Amino acid sequence: MKTLADINFKDKKAVIRVDFNVPLDENFAVVDATRIEAAKPTIDKILKDGGSVILMSHLGRPKGKEEKYSLKHIVAKTSEILGVKVKFVEDCIGAEVEKAAANLQPGEVLLLENLRFYKEEEAGDEGFAKKLAGLGDVYVNDAFGTAHRAHASTTIIANYFPENKVFGELLAKEIKSLDKVLKNSEKPVTAVLGGSKVSSKITVIENILDKVDHLIIGGGMTFTFIKALGGKIGDSICEDDKQELALEILAKAKEKNVQIHLPVDVIAADGFKNDANTKVVAVNEIPDGWQGLDAGPKSLENFKTVILESKTILWNGPLGVFEMENFANGTIELGNFIAEATEKGAFSLVGGGDSVSAVKQFGLEPKMSYVSTGGGAMLEMLEGKTLPGIAAILD
Ligand code: AMP
Repeated sequence: MKTLADINFKDKKAVIRVDFNVPLDENFAVVDATRIEAAKPTIDKILKDGGSVILMSHLGRPKGKEEKYSLKHIVAKTSEILGVKVKFVEDCIGAEVEKAAANLQPGEVLLLENLRFYKEEEAGDEGFAKKLAGLGDVYVNDAFGTAHRAHASTTIIANYFPENKVFGELLAKEIKSLDKVLKNSEKPVTAVLGGSKVSSKITVIENILDKVDHLIIGGGMTFTFIKALGGKIGDSICEDDKQELALEILAKAKEKNVQIHLPVDVIAADGFKNDANTKVVAVNEIPDGWQGLDAGPKSLENFKTVILESKTILWNGPLGVFEMENFANGTIELGNFIAEATEKGAFSLVGGGDSVSAVKQFGLEPKMSYVSTGGGAMLEMLEGKTLPGIAAILD
């Protein structure tokens, strides 16, 4: 795997695909700069070597050129984070951009305008990619969040740098973290899969059954399994057409010697709202008119035992409707167990969507070994897919 460490950037211009798709408020101020901060180590290394940096990113989903999606809104914040006055051009290809890139001196940073102002970006257009490539000497991909898309700036551009393309620090960290869970893992390995639906996680489940010793299933997914096993789930969320699949998963797990842990009790509510009446009931005896919205105390005890015995933990998806305060406990507790295991030396990776928001919301992020920055990209990696943005660098 070729990384930044393999290149001395002295007097070189690095074209870096970053993911600066940050949330802005109504005054176009950056609300959360995590993604800009995440790219800093890569940029710092190149500048420290004596190179210069050309940053390219998308922002939002513009239809053509739309002022509100201009990357000019983030120039000040990026300058502040990098400690360098960032230059900006109001385009990402063309004569003016070429001139700005050519004039760039070692130690300087140039930010290009939103790549998605051109439909050629998402279309993976060769000519567009070639123009972007012409701006620098080395291509660095540090945008994990878009690595699952074969866009011009994430994938096609790499063709123009057969010898000079590398992973940025962030992307390399994402790949290494996942390898630590799925390839070079220390046993026992436990995956916790939660979230609402079996259907959206099925490929992940199938892929990880070969890699884990324990699989904890929680969240709304639970009830498709419980119903398939003959349990009474009341009004809980369920995908009836996935019951057979659920049974197949359980059989496959047995075959592969993977221990599956389902909740044994739940916090049931008499409505899908925070102030609904609640009671703890057995997961397979939920009365009609009630629905399971969080893991119950016995389930959490069981999950705790498994987690604390694990040396490698992957967490994807909440254990309950954590957006509602009264049903967040299971997800928070699970986070605490993983934090405890991590403190005792386990490697923990949280990735792929809602569990990342939960971990951030409950202040657990610093207690995990690694929290992934890319929702969809991480999910696809967990599904065992090779992401085009990663394949293009490895090629
Ligand atoms: P996903 O996007 O598939 O990871 O699912 C995340 C969503 O699942 C969150 O918005 C949770 O509120 C929801 N969820 C978790 N547990 C339950 C449950 N028991 N019933 C309904 N929704 C749930």
